[in-house]
Amino acid sequence: MLGKMALKPYLIYEITDLTKGEPDSPKITSFKLVSKDGQNFKFLPGMFSSIFINPEDKLFRSYSIASSPLSRHMEFMIEMINGKFTSRLSGLKVNDEIYISEPRGNFVYNPENVEKALFLAAGIGIAPFFSMLRYVRDIDMKKDITLLYSVKHKEDIVNPSELDGFTNIGLNAVFTVTRDPEDVKWKGETGRINIPMIKRHISDLNSRTVYLCGGIKFVKDIVSELVAEGIRDEDIKRDIWGE
Ligand SMILES: Cc1cc2nc3c(=O)[nH]c(=O)nc-3n(C[C@H](O)[C@H](O)[C@H](O)COP(=O)(O)OP(=O)(O)OC[C@H]3O[C@@H](n4cnc5c(N)ncnc54)[C@H](O)[C@@H]3O)c2cc1C
Repeated sequence: MLGKMALKPYLIYEITDLTKGEPDSPKITSFKLVSKDGQNFKFLPGMFSSIFINPEDKLFRSYSIASSPLSRHMEFMIEMINGKFTSRLSGLKVNDEIYISEPRGNFVYNPENVEKALFLAAGIGIAPFFSMLRYVRDIDMKKDITLLYSVKHKEDIVNPSELDGFTNIGLNAVFTVTRDPEDVKWKGETGRINIPMIKRHISDLNSRTVYLCGGIKFVKDIVSELVAEGIRDEDIKRDIWGE
């Protein structure tokens, strides 16, 4: 029956928790899963898996893993845009089963090998960075990481208090909102991430490994700006989603 699936190997996971982002990021649903037979995939922080709902059809989408590789749960943070696949995901409930392909991808962060990092995320492109930061926390390391995270509205920030808590592992988290410039309660950055904004928060851009995740325009624009700043291509790791 499972032979029709396009990607193998895969495991069956059960949904144990479905939560909206904290405090109430309305568009994001976090799916927490446990493997049905207790066998878990091994992965590195930053990798993604494909999710299938029905093994009888070939519809699947890829999602970055947001949980730490050391966590018992596997977690995905998914923006419910009511598209072909997300509209089906929104019908799922706790205890339902879904099918997860073996994690893969080259967008991998190994804290042992990276001295100083700059993480740049747009929208739900923050998901793989949760896996990276949670992993650093789980292995009890302290790193020098600056994160610039852009969202349309401040309510879109996923798990802001968890991100703030990562100061313990050496994270400097900077949020920027690209809409609502008139919101007088917002004291953080506004507008899209660019080199001047990055330089307001770090003085050593050229000695950092840069990790970027988001839509194709976000990634392409920033990569060209970074290259123009003299950052070497091999120091820019990128994960591009969609068109
Ligand atoms: C490696 C990889 C990792 C990914 N990780 C995540 C993740 O962690 N969380 C996540 O939510 N998505 C992630 N995505 C995107 C995901 O695979 C789907 O594209 C997304 O969920 C939309 O699927 P859909 O079938 O509902 O929409 P579709 O019906 O396929 O698409 C509808 C339209 O919406 C656009 N679109 C896709 N995503 C968004 C978005 N977030 N906002 C606005 N428009 C969008 C598509 O480009 C398309 O034009 C990832 C994609 C890749 C390739």
